[in-house]
Amino acid sequence: MTATRTPGIPVVEDGFLVSTSPATGAEAGRVPISDEKAVEAAVDRARAAGTWWAGLNFDGRRVRLLRWRALLAERIEELAALPHAETGKPPADAIVEAIAAIEHIDWAARNAKRVLGPRRTRTRLLVAEHSGHLEYQPYGVVGVIGPWNYPILTPLGPISGALAAGNAVVLKPSEYTPAVGQWLVDTFAEIVPEQPVLQVVHGLGDVGAALCAAGVGKIAFTGSTATAKKVMATCAQTLTPVVLEAGGKDALIVDADADVDAAAEAAVWGSMTNAGQTCIGIERVYAVAPVYDAFVAAVVEKAGKLRVGEEIGPITMPGQVDVIRRHIDDALARGGRALLGGADAVQPPHVSPTVLVDVPEDSAAIREETFGPTVTITKVADAEEAISLANALPYGLGGAVFGKANGVRIARRLHTGMVAVNSTLSFVGMATLPFGGVGDSGFGRIHGEDGLREFARSKAITRQRFPSVVEVTRFDRHPAAVKRLTMILSTVYGRPPRRR
Ligand code: NDP
Repeated sequence: MTATRTPGIPVVEDGFLVSTSPATGAEAGRVPISDEKAVEAAVDRARAAGTWWAGLNFDGRRVRLLRWRALLAERIEELAALPHAETGKPPADAIVEAIAAIEHIDWAARNAKRVLGPRRTRTRLLVAEHSGHLEYQPYGVVGVIGPWNYPILTPLGPISGALAAGNAVVLKPSEYTPAVGQWLVDTFAEIVPEQPVLQVVHGLGDVGAALCAAGVGKIAFTGSTATAKKVMATCAQTLTPVVLEAGGKDALIVDADADVDAAAEAAVWGSMTNAGQTCIGIERVYAVAPVYDAFVAAVVEKAGKLRVGEEIGPITMPGQVDVIRRHIDDALARGGRALLGGADAVQPPHVSPTVLVDVPEDSAAIREETFGPTVTITKVADAEEAISLANALPYGLGGAVFGKANGVRIARRLHTGMVAVNSTLSFVGMATLPFGGVGDSGFGRIHGEDGLREFARSKAITRQRFPSVVEVTRFDRHPAAVKRLTMILSTVYGRPPRRR
């Protein structure tokens, strides 16, 4: 039976999930749906595969992950065609996305041994007879649940960390982008045919929920804050740990000594790339009064050159168009002005670039995730006011600052997990830095050293090297032993530090 199709909305046909292009309605992917039993079976297979994979040790995994990296680099155009077909994003943007993902695989493969490998820790005087050993052991199976907006990069962040750390992975891609997830898993199997170390389960939200309940060692979720809460609630039933990469409402601050033209260029890229459907997209700008007029003019001029259907692709989820329209309408109804775009900008499946000014801080366009090619620009007296307004929301994912003298100082004071100074979004491509948010944007980290440790448990081992000089941890201890230890303690710790 063939269900009626609306462009962009995935349909279920005869046990298959079918994704379609939001721009043309053409079929983009067709994959079998997994039921709860199939999810459990995949996790069972992954347990055995994880044991085999962990047994390859860091060097064995490194060489296989680097081979996969090479395959992805070699076939990058074939890979990038899939998000273009399923989400409508411009092919060049899909390639840039894939490049960032490949960079993360390379870094994780090369650095896992250094970050997670066994090491001795320094001992302390009071336990000098023991040596300390620290190592990081994999969880076994990590479940990765991904969104549709960056269907290559967002799952490959946690997947690269989890695999490099020695886990098997079961991926549940978004129902909007199943073909991308399937391709990643199929190509990994070309490189690692021995065991199903990376598997995929397809379906709607219930399949993600089944994965959370299937007894995996950890869940890495990327998606909206509302779904993140559901994931955490399901995982709470089995105390399954989670890393949650949720939504955002990132702000850009333009300080008085900023390079205004560069700030405008980066603001347009940060807010409009991927048609604004970017978790770390710039949705709000706070520009200080002395540069406000020049900055606004430059943003309007640059955003006005973007071509809908070329640089600006369609809105992937048809339902999101209503959210974008509501935010624009609300902003205009409350006294905001559209210097570019506006109410007429919404022509499904596209939304043309929209620049809003004078928008009240309590409006939806300022407070809620819009996920469209829109940006608000607000005039502020100084950087202090900008910081306070930027920090006023419960979200705290990323952010950006343009300014010379105080850029980094301002960046430190933003309540977010990441900030780019004199650029936007750049931290996501830097494989050495952790990625993740605070507050409603989630917790836990992917990418970088923290992103490797996220997918391994620390294991602490002590080994007694020689008998204790002062035996106090046995029942037949001599009373003088405790006294002696107390004296040692007072000698070592009893004096306050000298004032500097
Ligand atoms: P959703 O939260 O709707 O979905 C994310 C994933 O969760 C999908 O695979 C979805 O499956 C699955 N899911 C849905 N319900 C459940 C459930 N009850 N239990 C387990 N899994 C479930 O997000 P979107 O896909 O719409 O992605 C957009 C959102 O993702 C935005 O808010 C964006 O900010 C955020 N995001 C965050 C990033 C970050 O790193 N912080 C990066 C990229 C995006 P299905 O699709 O089948 O419903």
